[in-house]
Amino acid sequence: MFFYEHWIMTFVVGGISLLALDAFSWGAMCIMLIVTTVIDFDHAVQYLVTQRNLDFKKGYRYYMRQFKTKKQRFYIFHTLEFHLVLFYLSFQSWTMFLIFFSAIMHLLADQLNYYFHHKALKDVQLWTTSGHIRSGLKRRVKANVRKKVKKYENLHRKRR
Ligand SMILES: [Zn+2]
Repeated sequence: MFFYEHWIMTFVVGGISLLALDAFSWGAMCIMLIVTTVIDFDHAVQYLVTQRNLDFKKGYRYYMRQFKTKKQRFYIFHTLEFHLVLFYLSFQSWTMFLIFFSAIMHLLADQLNYYFHHKALKDVQLWTTSGHIRSGLKRRVKANVRKKVKKYENLHRKRR
């Protein structure tokens, strides 16, 4: 989802929730808007780490291509584990609760957006660190098997 879509959602859903809790303040709104923006910086981090490139225009196009092909990558601030940590911290203070609340809103919006685009929940497992590691292992095992099969075929060909 784009920044502005997250901002609109935070304004509407976050604002209404704060009003319902009788806790509305512009300070709280600011915190939520900052959090929902900062969370998406893990896309930039992922791009920087995997592509070793500082051209963020290219990075943006790279991300859009991945999204269209359902190629989900590992985004640390979008993982379930990260949200569990925030959930735990949310009991410490009102600010931490606001941070947790906006992070969860962001995650749900991204998940819904992903679902409506791809009509699939299959790749949602990649949104957990463990799921990501598992799928990476699976990919590696498959690649290894393919390599061994090729080696065997070559050997067989030579013998003939
Ligand atoms: Zn996001």
